Amino acid sequence: MYDTDSPEAIVVGGGLVGSSIAYHLTRAGVSTLLIEQGDLASGASGANFGNVQVADAEFGLSLDLTLRSFARFATLEAELDYPVGFLRTGSLLLIENAQQLALMQERAARLQAVGLRVALLDRDETRRLEPFLDPEAFLGALYHPDEGTLDPFRLVRAFVRRGQGHGLALWTHTRVSGIEIKGARVTGVVTSRGRVSARWVILAAGAWAYELGLTAGVGLPLAWVQGEAAVTEPVENVAQNTLATAAFFESTEGSGAQTVGFCLRQRPRGHVMMGEAASVTRALGRTATAAALPLVAREACRWLPGLRRANVVRTWAIPVAFTADHRPLLGPVDGVDGLVAATALKSTIILTPVVGELVAELITTSHWDPRLGEFSPTRTGGP
Ligand SMILES: Cc1cc2nc3c(=O)[nH]c(=O)nc-3n(C[C@H](O)[C@H](O)[C@H](O)COP(=O)(O)OP(=O)(O)OC[C@H]3O[C@@H](n4cnc5c(N)ncnc54)[C@H](O)[C@@H]3O)c2cc1C
Repeated sequence: MYDTDSPEAIVVGGGLVGSSIAYHLTRAGVSTLLIEQGDLASGASGANFGNVQVADAEFGLSLDLTLRSFARFATLEAELDYPVGFLRTGSLLLIENAQQLALMQERAARLQAVGLRVALLDRDETRRLEPFLDPEAFLGALYHPDEGTLDPFRLVRAFVRRGQGHGLALWTHTRVSGIEIKGARVTGVVTSRGRVSARWVILAAGAWAYELGLTAGVGLPLAWVQGEAAVTEPVENVAQNTLATAAFFESTEGSGAQTVGFCLRQRPRGHVMMGEAASVTRALGRTATAAALPLVAREACRWLPGLRRANVVRTWAIPVAFTADHRPLLGPVDGVDGLVAATALKSTIILTPVVGELVAELITTSHWDPRLGEFSPTRTGGP
């Protein structure tokens, strides 16, 4: 353990991204303090379904990084020496119309070309995998048998625990209220426990990174939705695979009204997690709205009519960061030496290992692949 008065790096945010970065930094020998305003995984990382998504990656650099990160999942549990419940359960992106079919045909060909075992299934093939789907609701699906799931709380815990083995210091229930700058250089942060100086500050604060960026005079091009989901009581097997709709790939430009997109995962003990209602907002609330549950439940029952008999036991809502171009904000913040942003990863769990590796490499070697410039946190074209 080192002196928390002067770590080399401070990571703000104890979610999936911050915990992975903190682990990779300490593994690389960088003295690091991880600061979280609540409990670990109390932001979007504790609100998610645990899907290790691969088949929905953006093409180009995001897909390259997804494949690199996916390879690490084969040994991650052993490396972290902690069970995170990783299982290869498979996923289906359900196709409803000709436009989605064309998008999924192209996606299948491009994913197969990089070696993924994806297949385009017709309706009968899909129903053989998922007999409880309403056959009237879809034409077929993009199937990826190797897609995984895990327990996101355990993954965050595993990164932090392993990091602590390398000397990571952890402050939970500690709020960072500002980033301190001298000249054009980060000098530390102000927290509810006092001031801490550091050479590096990594903003892994999810949707909250926007307001923290402002304290350093940086307007990150970041937006967020209030994402809302629900979980049922345990029910008999209704779905083996992670289910989602290919509608996620159609144009989503538009209003701030509440929209619903179907995604569903049945947990090993029978609970069915279903979502997600989303509305673009500038608030950072966590209160589920009355309108979301009927939207989510109606959509889930449209695909799986057998769910009509299931009781919902809990709903939740959380701000989830995104960017207008669907690329993450990842890398050094131009104009503020020592400030690094890491947020708005489209599919977060899959990317956690590679993001941790990249940030650790930046801080230990100053190397930042020029191709990563497309993720620059200070690129133009905000929400
Ligand atoms: C219903 C739902 C289902 C989802 N399912 C999946 C899925 O299956 N797979 C997947 O990959 N993604 C999924 N996602 C998206 C995923 O959950 C998020 O993208 C991801 O959790 C973001 O992680 P993060 O670490 O960037 O942010 P967060 O988890 O939000 O972490 C940021 C942390 O920073 C802390 N913080 C903020 N401000 C401060 C401050 N000032 N001082 C100190 N700490 C601060 C917060 O408390 C928070 O814990 C889902 C999202 C929703 C809503």
